[in-house]
This record gives sequence, C-alpha cells and structure tokens, in this order.
Amino acid sequence: MTTALGELTSRLAAALAVRRQGHGYRSRTETGPAAAPHIRVADRDYINFASNDYLGLSTHPHVVRAFRDAAAEYGVGAGASHLVTGHRRPHGELERALAALCGTPRALLFSTGYMANLGLVSTLCPRTGVVMEDRLNHASLLDAAALSAGRLVRYRHADADDLGRRLAAAGGGPRIVVTDGVFSMDGDIAPLPDLLAVARQHGAILLVDDAHAFGVLGASGAGTCDHFGIDPADRPIVMGTLGKAFGVFGAFVAGPESLVESLIQQARSYIYTTALPPAVAAAALAAVGLMQAEPGRRAHLHHLIRHLRAGARRRGLDFVDSQTPIQPFIVGGDARALALAEALRLEGFWVTAIRPPTVPKGTARLRVTLSAAHTTAAVDAFLDALEGATHASGD
Ligand SMILES: *Cc1c(COP(=O)(O)O)cnc(C)c1O
Repeated sequence: MTTALGELTSRLAAALAVRRQGHGYRSRTETGPAAAPHIRVADRDYINFASNDYLGLSTHPHVVRAFRDAAAEYGVGAGASHLVTGHRRPHGELERALAALCGTPRALLFSTGYMANLGLVSTLCPRTGVVMEDRLNHASLLDAAALSAGRLVRYRHADADDLGRRLAAAGGGPRIVVTDGVFSMDGDIAPLPDLLAVARQHGAILLVDDAHAFGVLGASGAGTCDHFGIDPADRPIVMGTLGKAFGVFGAFVAGPESLVESLIQQARSYIYTTALPPAVAAAALAAVGLMQAEPGRRAHLHHLIRHLRAGARRRGLDFVDSQTPIQPFIVGGDARALALAEALRLEGFWVTAIRPPTVPKGTARLRVTLSAAHTTAAVDAFLDALEGATHASGD
C-alpha cells in the first residue's frame, strides 16, 4: 500500500534527480572558523572571493567584543517581538545611528532584508496599487510584490525610459517603483537620478534596496543616494541590510516619521516575529561606527576593484562592467561554471558559480566579490589562477 508520504517522497526524489542531471542542484558547504578574508573547508584554508563581507567587519575584534558584551548584559535572545517587550536599548541606539547615517528622520530595524522588503512593499501598496520592478531585482523584492495587494509590472533592466512608458500605461492609483541600488548578481548601479526623475514626473514613490551599497558606495558610505549626491529632500525610501558590508545580520528601512510609524502599525513581517537579538544590534552599531571612523576600508576596497579590473584587462579576462565589489565573470554554461569554480578551489580560492534560475539561462557565472580584507597580492594571485583555469578549460 502506498501512503501519501511515500508518494510524496518518491515524487520529490524524482524531481531532485532531474535537477541533479541538469547541473541545477544546489548544495551547502559547511565552513569552519576563519577570519575574513579566509574561509576554512574540511581543514583547508581558502581565500574567500564569495562573501558579502565587503569591509571585512564580520570578524573584526571590536564588532565581536560589542556582540559578546551585549550578550552578557542583555542575554542572547530579545525574548519577544518589538511591540511586546523585545525592543531593547541596543535596537533603539542602532536605529538612531542608522537614521543619522541616512540623513532621514527615522530608521526601523527588521530581522532580515527579506522581511523588510515584504513589510515595506505590502505597507506601501494598497489593493489598487501597482508595483513597478526592475527585471533583475532581488528575489525578495519580487516576492514582496507578489505578496502585496498590488499588481506587479516589470520594466527593462535599469531602463528609466521603459519605466516611464509603463508608468504612463498603468493608469491612476498609487504606483511604487522598486529597484536594487546595486544589482546583486551583476554589480551594476541603478540609474537613480533618472529613475527618480521619471517617478516624480508620474507621481510615483521610489523605493531602493541598498543591500549591496551601504558601507560601500558614497563619500560617507551611505549608499547609492550618497554615490549620486542626491539631495536629502529628494531621496527615495531606502532599505539597507546589516549582513553585508556591516558584516553582522539584520536590516532596516530609513525614511520619514510617518512611514516608520506606519510600518510599526502594519508590516506583518515586523509585527509577528521575534526581535533581532539585542547583541546583534550592538554588534551592528559597532560595525556602523567602524565604517564611519575608518573610511580607509572603503578606499582600499575601491582600490582593489580598480586593481582587479586593470589586471583582468591585461590578462584578457572579461569581467562584466561593474564599479562595485560584485565582479561577475560570465561563463555561460552551468557545467562549465561549476568546473571553473572547482579548478579555482584546487588553487586555494573560493568562488561560487551562480546558475539559473538565480541568473538568466546561458549566463552562469562566477560571482567574484571583493572585500577590504583582501590584499592586492591576493587579487593578483586569484587572477593568475583564473587565467590558468580558463585556458585549461579550453578558452
Ligand atoms: C541580501 C539581499 C537581501 C536580503 O537581505 P537579508 O538580510 O540577507 O535577508 C535583499 N535584497 C538584496 C538586493 C540583497 O542582496
């Protein structure tokens, strides 16, 4: 007799086998303790070119100490959601520091960027609304639109003219335009001034997911708006994360008082979940402080970006055009991307092959990311290894 569970497991196993054959199988690697930019896998150390720890802060002693001290004082867990008794002093301190960094009246912490996007888009978009999204937006933004009461319309990547046409065609009702500030798989920067102008012309709100830009772009590290020098009065609503350049965990939305208060009232991904551990907030506050006090980290990161690009050009290695720490090397086929990543591992470099459906079919890539913890010598050695591996694989 076949049971429902038996049928389910054989159906799942068959689907997994198909996925494995198509080189689309995803698996995790359990990594050991190591300080940035290293990663330890099965007792071997690699230089990690596959992390979002852009400033190398995740293992910084000040950040670690802030975490440990706050855990000793506040305990590990927040104990409740923010609206019950989970909103602790380190959360408030971090929110005030983030608002100051962004030049906005308020900032609101969320447990993750994924949840911040869900809460933000749902709160901003009523049933009669339309959510306009860049085709290459992060999955969490597309999910956020799907879960909202509004209708999702996708516009051509980084194309303000296409956005304008679609806004004109969308008719009345509230419209919100949503874009990554730095696109997570390509590393390019959204044309914010153009998007802002088009949004304004059509009376639409602009929302920017700056997960990969905070701490990285702009004179003060305040992200894409800072990079373009956008006047504080014209700034879009911004979501940022604390798990990338800040090396910790969590996310925030920065904006006007009424927006933050509305999110507190309405955003289900804010209300119905345990607050982030207060020690995480304390560690993030330390990381934000280091980012501001030590602009040399960001300067070194941008030096490494230029160094990698110049070195790649000299070696005939074709990276996607990007001015950010995300430096994709398009390979094409899924199997070839996996083989190249494996060849680099043998040389002591850890990179991740990114395959469809995370990126469009036929554009499997090595998503190389740089960190201020890297040295120029490590970047040179990596490029040498990549050059060797591409030749060995028949380029
Ligand atoms: C990582 C990322 C998120 C999700 O943030 P988490 O805090 O990791 O949930 C959202 N948007 C973009 C563009 C990201 O890169």
